Amino acid sequence: MSEPKDSPRWFEQAPAPIQAEPRTAPARKDLWVRCPGCEQILFRPALMEQLAVCPHCRHHHRWDSRARLEMLCDEGSFERHDRFVAPLDPLEFADSKSYSSRLAATQRAQGELDAYIAGSATLHGVPVEIGTFDFRFMGGSMGSVVGELVTRQFERAADKKRPAIVISASGGARMQEGILSLMQMAKTCAALARLRDEARMPYISVLADPTTGGVAASFAMLGDVIVAEPHALIGFAGARVIRETIRQELPEGFQTSEYLLEHGMVDLIVPRDELKDALARLCRHLVPRR
Ligand SMILES: [Zn+2]
Repeated sequence: MSEPKDSPRWFEQAPAPIQAEPRTAPARKDLWVRCPGCEQILFRPALMEQLAVCPHCRHHHRWDSRARLEMLCDEGSFERHDRFVAPLDPLEFADSKSYSSRLAATQRAQGELDAYIAGSATLHGVPVEIGTFDFRFMGGSMGSVVGELVTRQFERAADKKRPAIVISASGGARMQEGILSLMQMAKTCAALARLRDEARMPYISVLADPTTGGVAASFAMLGDVIVAEPHALIGFAGARVIRETIRQELPEGFQTSEYLLEHGMVDLIVPRDELKDALARLCRHLVPRR
């Protein structure tokens, strides 16, 4: 077969356009996030720069504990305590996976040994003992380590005569540690009672989304002042369990910060970007002048 006369010779033909390499690395799944408040798709790094608050509807997304401490504490003032207290698996618990392998995987993914970070810091110059849950670590569940860290935080606050601040974001007690998790409720509350009765120092509890189960049923709801983030889920058992137990329809907005504020269970709802100012102001009001 002969070529038509006007067709270019092979060395005059334009090279075939270079095909883009097929993308072998999977696109990062978590780069985009759908806002539960307004359904808009948000670029996660931009969202994180705005304290994880949606720029369209002000929905407060769940947030990383380290970023939260960085926002709250005065620059360079945070001194971390008890960083290397690590959980064990005394019950050798296993469900679909063993607790020890679940722990190891979460520790690798999160770069933390457990779900709570505590330290001493200043907030606008006010010295405090502060700690925060990280919901990404096994749902912010409270096992022996979290309970021990919260207890030590209250004890440190009592010794140093400083207010204590706990920011909760937790699904409750860690079921893989069974009764050892449940006893953290009593242990933390006993330390809190000493902070109040003996050291006479205040404790401010901040409830982030979600604060439920054994954490809500212990120190989270015992703050001298209880502050909540807007639209956080706060409660003990889930709405479905309650509905099926009492066989009644639950009121609109049940278990939200706003509902609890209206019913006297929460003192203040403070947006994230105003939290540092609010906490520093509360500490100044509540700490007796020496
Ligand atoms: Zn939104």
